[in-house]
Amino acid sequence: MSRVAIADLTAEPGQRRHGLVRVPGLEPAWEMPAVVVRGRLPGPTLAVTSGMHAAEYVPIEAVTRLTRELDPERLRGTLLAVLLVNSPGFFERSIYVNPRDGRNLNRSFPGSPSGSAAERVANFLLEELIAGSDAYVDAHCGDLIEALSPFTLWLRSADPQVAERARGMAACYGFEHTLGVDPEAVPGAAYAAAALRGVPGIIAEIGEQGICDEPSVRRHLQGLRNVLAHLGMIDAVGEPAAAPQEMDQMVWMRTGVSATYHPTVAVGEWVTEGQPVGELRDIFGDKLEPVTAAAGGLVVFLVTSLAVKEGDPLMGIGVPVAT
Ligand SMILES: [Zn+2]
Repeated sequence: MSRVAIADLTAEPGQRRHGLVRVPGLEPAWEMPAVVVRGRLPGPTLAVTSGMHAAEYVPIEAVTRLTRELDPERLRGTLLAVLLVNSPGFFERSIYVNPRDGRNLNRSFPGSPSGSAAERVANFLLEELIAGSDAYVDAHCGDLIEALSPFTLWLRSADPQVAERARGMAACYGFEHTLGVDPEAVPGAAYAAAALRGVPGIIAEIGEQGICDEPSVRRHLQGLRNVLAHLGMIDAVGEPAAAPQEMDQMVWMRTGVSATYHPTVAVGEWVTEGQPVGELRDIFGDKLEPVTAAAGGLVVFLVTSLAVKEGDPLMGIGVPVAT
């Protein structure tokens, strides 16, 4: 039988319950707000997380609304949702990392029950939420300093059946682009760890820059509804989503120096390999080096911060599947 609890938080058929789930072994306590919506009727279990990155507000709001709108009397199966994974970072407005150990939770899977804070949280989510569920969505958006064009990612080379099911979830979500990722390209990502445990998982991203805008919230919420309908847990709401554009790879560009960053392209623009796409300058405004496109494709992801530190990402270029 599919999992119907997040750690010790569970509900009877036809019930919705919420509470704080606590990661064992961490002081001060790391507690995450979580909701179980258990349908009156039997069906699969969908696990959902948001707030793995604490300043990604659109998915936090969308997942919260989902847990409140679902009718447990009519739901077939169970929704398990952790609304805010990186709870210590929320009021700090932490970017990328959590304030307890300075690590990125979405680079910390599968984690360890005896590791650092991020590793323990990752391991807890994998064992007490994801494993035993039938499908998993990790809801994200651009962080405080990121703009992006909406996309979904799934693991290309997991068990082919698991990969195909994840691809189906990604296709129904309604976002513009999708990419099947190779495992070595996403070390420590939650959706990849899920797939390696046999649970089809996707990451879905819309929204950006700390703005909790209503259109993005609605589209994330609709994507989650589409997945529930795709799994047979609710009746379809609205029109089926348009098929996403399939990307072959995402090419990340990083800075080798700490500098100020002056991109000259926007998300959604097409670029050719070698095209000038911005400049890195020192704090006096002198040019340090040009930034040129590392591949031809679509600017899917763009850092929008003036300040960039050595090793930081600058831009992600989605290379479409050749047609
Ligand atoms: Zn994120």
